[in-house]
Amino acid sequence: MKIQNSTDLDTEHLKALTSILMKGSNRYLAKVTFRKCKRAFSGCYRHGFYGSSEIIVRLGDDVKYPYTMNTWHNKYYPRYIVNDKFELAIAILAHEIYHLKTRHSGTRRLKNTQIRAERFAMKTLQKIRATFFEVESN
Ligand SMILES: [Zn+2]
Repeated sequence: MKIQNSTDLDTEHLKALTSILMKGSNRYLAKVTFRKCKRAFSGCYRHGFYGSSEIIVRLGDDVKYPYTMNTWHNKYYPRYIVNDKFELAIAILAHEIYHLKTRHSGTRRLKNTQIRAERFAMKTLQKIRATFFEVESN
């Protein structure tokens, strides 16, 4: 799996993060690109044939932290806070990985997929934070 990074985040951290989140599904993913953009942020999952799927994460320089994630200001979507650019990268990457995993496992549901992906992103971020604190206190 290839990691490409043109943001100011540390490439090794992004590599480590990606392999933690992709655990068990590495074989599906060919490439993850972290790209900087001028405004806001976005994620994109390109489904490819076996082993050729791609994820692109775009991170804007204008995002003010802490930032409240709430897709389309919809009350049915989870609302959660990202504290910095790295946490935003975690949330976007986890969201796209949810699409990848459900697509490849054949459990993709047509309804509420975006809400499910956002819930997964929120839970993943909480898990990563908990793990980080565990490491810190040891
Ligand atoms: Zn999505």
